[in-house]
Amino acid sequence: MGSNLTDRNFLILGAGVTGKSVARSLKAHGSQVTIADDYSDEGIKTDGISLENFDAVVVSPGWRLDHPLLVKALKSGLEILNEVDLAWQIKLEIAPSQKWLAITGTNGKTTAVEMVAKILQTAGLKAKACGNLGETVIDAVEQADPLDYLVLELSSFQLHWVKNAQFHSSAILNIAHDHIDWHSSFDLYAQAKLSLLEKSEIAILNADDGEVVSRSASWKGRKVFFTLNTPAPGEIGVVEELIVDRCFVSDPMEAEMICEINDVKPTIPHNVSNAMAAATLALSIDVPHKVIQKALQEFRPGKHRIEIILENDSISWIDDSKATNPHAAIASLNSHLSVIWIAGGLAKGADMEGLVQRCKKRIKAVILIGEDSDLIERALQKFAPDVPREKIEAPSSYVKGQADNSLMEEVVTKALTFATAGDSVLLAPACASMDQFVSYADRGDRFAAAVKKLVSHAK
Ligand code: ADP
Repeated sequence: MGSNLTDRNFLILGAGVTGKSVARSLKAHGSQVTIADDYSDEGIKTDGISLENFDAVVVSPGWRLDHPLLVKALKSGLEILNEVDLAWQIKLEIAPSQKWLAITGTNGKTTAVEMVAKILQTAGLKAKACGNLGETVIDAVEQADPLDYLVLELSSFQLHWVKNAQFHSSAILNIAHDHIDWHSSFDLYAQAKLSLLEKSEIAILNADDGEVVSRSASWKGRKVFFTLNTPAPGEIGVVEELIVDRCFVSDPMEAEMICEINDVKPTIPHNVSNAMAAATLALSIDVPHKVIQKALQEFRPGKHRIEIILENDSISWIDDSKATNPHAAIASLNSHLSVIWIAGGLAKGADMEGLVQRCKKRIKAVILIGEDSDLIERALQKFAPDVPREKIEAPSSYVKGQADNSLMEEVVTKALTFATAGDSVLLAPACASMDQFVSYADRGDRFAAAVKKLVSHAK
């Protein structure tokens, strides 16, 4: 980047978590900052901004590429920076020996990043998860007691902008349709994910994901593959009930146990795959097998990720509100045998037909909600016309974010009419939530509240 962070005048696009953290840091470096945001009182409106007053622009990851001010800034030739590269520059100055690990992928990033942080902490290393979850990278770099390792969760939006940051090792978990509206095509979305490779010494790649394998084929750096199948020499994989290492061992013709599959909870294929990615990242910095096993035994994924809310009358009520794209919903649906599926919201340009084709045998009934539910309805009509389905409209008085939970209560009441012993009622909407809910967490919390209120009292 070569730019100085002192005595400059920065325009920051976005007053969210990232923009505020960047502003704090740049001010502490002795620069001036202006935050622009049309939707927050903490920023000024973008239409009155003249770019001549600024030395550089820092863009927040969520900003749409076609935002007029960003388009203008790109055309003007002004330097466009991003939080991750700024954090990298600061790291070089204040924590030169700190190493960065990174994870990207369509799904499982947060889970895998938290697994890595847990493994490294169990190994006695000073490590923290940061980036696209919780704490910003800048805040993690600048903390008073410098960390040995940062484990970065990187979204495709962040990777679109990152140029300078360097990673000891990085994992790509999977690549499937998501955020096509933002990137404008699947190819550009996938390219953003793959751009992580050029910045990494070691790439840790999912051998079971066709997109990851084919799109990384021409990259010439060191690759380590992980797989749910038997690993070849040089890979991490599964042999019977064990996750085994045939890469970071003295003799790759032998396999050494990292842990049992059952150590990973929930013990479902995509989560075991996440655990292997996390284990491989830890192995790349020489964490011993036993430490990885202990950490994975203690680890549980965060809320709203296949979280069992209630089991009643042999029916499981499951909150997977974080399944905001079809790829995550497919993994979820395929982890249950007979599902009352609650789906819909904002599809973000994703295709729903593949999901219905792949999961229709598991779906007993569908309850549709939200703006793009018609997309799912059409896919069901085409590929699973016999599956009963019902659309629940929000009551006209419904305002998102308010105490009234009648929408989810109606959804749960409807689910009760379909569910019988052995079924799972699964909120895995394959869509983002913001049309009807404040966030995926709000959607999941409302589902859980409705289930707790209505289900155990039914009958
Ligand atoms: P991200 O940070 O990438 O959104 P999360 O760990 O928060 O990932 O999980 C997001 C959603 O994807 C959840 O619904 C979760 O159950 C599902 N999921 C997690 N890992 C995978 C995976 N490897 N493949 C498919 N779906 C996954």
